[in-house]
Amino acid sequence: MTLLLGCIADDYTGASDLASMLSSCGLRTVQTIGVPQLGLELPEMDAVVVALKSRSIAAPRAVELSLEAERWLRGRGAGHIVFKICSTFDSTDAGNIGPVLDALREQAGGGIVAVNPAFIETGRTVYQGHLFVNGVPLHESPLKDHPLNPMHDSNLVRVLGRQSASPVGLVPLAVIEQGPDAIRAALQALASDGDGSAILDAVAPRHLLAIGEAALAGPVSAGASGIGYGLARAIVAREKLSGRPAAAMASSDGARDTHAAILAGSCSAATLRQIDVAERRMPCLKLDVDALLDGPAEAAHALDWARQRLERGPVLIVSSTPPEAVRALQARHGGAEAGHAVEQALAGLAEGLLAAGVGHLIVAGGETSGAVVDRLGLQALLIGPEIAPGVPVLQAVGAPKPGLRLALKSGNFGGDDFFLEALARLRDPDAAG
Ligand code: ADP
Repeated sequence: MTLLLGCIADDYTGASDLASMLSSCGLRTVQTIGVPQLGLELPEMDAVVVALKSRSIAAPRAVELSLEAERWLRGRGAGHIVFKICSTFDSTDAGNIGPVLDALREQAGGGIVAVNPAFIETGRTVYQGHLFVNGVPLHESPLKDHPLNPMHDSNLVRVLGRQSASPVGLVPLAVIEQGPDAIRAALQALASDGDGSAILDAVAPRHLLAIGEAALAGPVSAGASGIGYGLARAIVAREKLSGRPAAAMASSDGARDTHAAILAGSCSAATLRQIDVAERRMPCLKLDVDALLDGPAEAAHALDWARQRLERGPVLIVSSTPPEAVRALQARHGGAEAGHAVEQALAGLAEGLLAAGVGHLIVAGGETSGAVVDRLGLQALLIGPEIAPGVPVLQAVGAPKPGLRLALKSGNFGGDDFFLEALARLRDPDAAG
């Protein structure tokens, strides 16, 4: 296998989002959970997205894991590696975007890293280095209330500058508009001035195409699915791959008969709306999160509740609450500790649900999905059709359950009826979206 593109993602839902974008642009793509273990058989692929869970861990460990992934990808021929981050730049002043980019850049022998988190389809744009979410500056958007990485600064040059050992430059929209050659020249000029990375503006898909083509000339870039779109389209043009049939999703026997469940651990505004819509259509259990953190009884009760209902149709189990309730819980139990404990409890529930016959599982929340995927021991995922921008149907390769289908949704993704749409698409991935 000689990879045309190597990707390292800092969380699992972000990895699926990027993999889905690459696949829809015509690259045969697989997502691995962590650096593939020896002996994992992967089909012939153009791009591999190594999904890490490194967004909210200590920076040195995030660097170590990312470099391990980098060695694996370069060892399979990847000439360019993109570090996939959240389109809302989720991070803190301690990292991990800056430290990982510094390490990847050093490993590649220096140069400058083009950084662009825009994702136009989901309303993330960058102008004069400032990130906007649906037209609202990042620090005024719902991301200001994120339980793990609250974002209080929209100026990404400043945000990345606080995390990175080297200075950060800006390639403004006026240069992006001039196309790939102008962008490459601007990046080179910034590198000569000593910048290790640069934020690139983008407010429309054509900007991402130009950025992708320019970035491909260097060994490393960083961004969200938008830069993936630009890179994939540049590779497809360079390798003359267009018109090749997309890889088909393996058939899953009995897919229509299997039980289905939704677990929501995201407290994002979008997920809260999706829960409101779905709970009118299926049984919904709202976990008592205090009790969940106190001992195993609440999770055991939730599993019993689900087992009694799965035969009759999908069930929805949520820990999600509005921001005031999140803050109250964090005040009682500690911020990150509470979040991680809830993630682990939901992961335990996912394991119990699979044992109870669930073969279609939808998880809302990036960190929550990471905890679930780890607990289930998933190794690699084939990328199927998109349910919503950034959220594909996934099918497990090998363990733990042949044909297990999943949708892993980053909190803010999907329309209000996402859960209903996802249930339908897991049952029949090829049905029109
Ligand atoms: P998103 O994709 O929206 O960022 P994540 O799963 O990444 O969602 O993050 C949400 C975090 O909030 C997780 O750590 C999760 O365990 C935590 N969480 C879930 N429910 C609650 C709650 N009721 N109170 C506090 N934290 C919660």
